[in-house]
Amino acid sequence: MYEKEYLMLPGPTPVPPRVLRAMSEPLVNHRGPSFKKLIEEVTEGIQYVYQTKNDVLTLPSSGTGGLEAAIVNFLSPGDKVLALSIGAFGERFATIARNYGCIVEQIDYEWGTAANPDDVRTRLSADTKGEYKAVLVTHNETSTGVANDLKAISEARGNHPALLLVDSVSGLGVMDAKTDDWQLDVVVTAAQKGFMIPPGVAFVSVSPRAWKAYESSKAPKFYWDLGTAKKYLEKGQTSWTPPIPQYTALKEALKIFRDKGMDYIFTKQLYLRDITRAGVKAMGLKLVAADEVASAAVTAVWAPEGIEGKLINKKMREEYNVVVAGGQKKMENKAFRIGHLGYVQHVDMLVVIAALEMCLLDLGYPVELGKGVKAAQEVIMSRKGIL
Ligand SMILES: *Cc1c(COP(=O)(O)O)cnc(C)c1O
Repeated sequence: MYEKEYLMLPGPTPVPPRVLRAMSEPLVNHRGPSFKKLIEEVTEGIQYVYQTKNDVLTLPSSGTGGLEAAIVNFLSPGDKVLALSIGAFGERFATIARNYGCIVEQIDYEWGTAANPDDVRTRLSADTKGEYKAVLVTHNETSTGVANDLKAISEARGNHPALLLVDSVSGLGVMDAKTDDWQLDVVVTAAQKGFMIPPGVAFVSVSPRAWKAYESSKAPKFYWDLGTAKKYLEKGQTSWTPPIPQYTALKEALKIFRDKGMDYIFTKQLYLRDITRAGVKAMGLKLVAADEVASAAVTAVWAPEGIEGKLINKKMREEYNVVVAGGQKKMENKAFRIGHLGYVQHVDMLVVIAALEMCLLDLGYPVELGKGVKAAQEVIMSRKGIL
């Protein structure tokens, strides 16, 4: 294919050319001095994005492997955990805990809404025996485009010892998550979302409290054993053979984070969100998430009455080379999702909105061409100079 493709997914996300070039460097010995230097530099860069001094381990995996690591390293079969689920990824995290024998109390919120910190407060404050060992939460729910208030959820624990295990696979590097200030015990993310590199590495941060829990964890583990990973990291290595090109890519991508600073990244991401939402709303479409809880990484949109969501994705891809994601699980064929994280800029959103208008018109939805584009342009014009 020589045509340009717009990869507007909530992962994998477009990779900057300088990062792709970094991946073509010759391989090095993963037990030698160059890799040691590389992993040390990369780990420090990841800690910067995480806003943490906690240990951060890198694992050869997609995001889900990182989530599994968060469960098997800090919990044991029979442990009671509170899982806050606001969509498909919240369900996945709870399922992993259940599959490893945890007793999962799952609170399901209506898809499109955020978790209520008061539910954590009520349960944990009544738990005087300390039976809850952990609270599982999704930072950014990629299936619905809703961001949870991590800080409030963490604070709602009060002085209950339950660990907070966070799936921030599509949140870290996109939306603010102050790992140390907000006392987030274990935070999982992956390379192919906000970090702008191809899939293949997951990251897990571990607080001192979580390391204590690791000591008594009885869940079976081998490949994902973070104690092993920590021992190897101290020698400048990973437990098993790492995807080396991902590390050279990461080194380059992390330079972008350092050069721009996290405030720039967070501001830019909110800006892209607002452009997208304005354009979609002006077309008369319904958004899955309310403004107050809307994600800076992905926007989920309901397909108009009578139009199959899948047809919108198909037309966008086939006629305009714009690739957006479909609805997941119970939203399958009912919604579609526009990713706007990482290596994406304001005018890319105009392309998506323009293509969407044309597709919807072809599918019989009465949209006035240019209406969504105009609303999106107005957001851009009104915020000149914010970046
Ligand atoms: C992408 C994602 C994951 C992990 O998916 P993988 O395909 O395993 O990388 C987990 N949680 C959330 C919120 C995600 O967006």
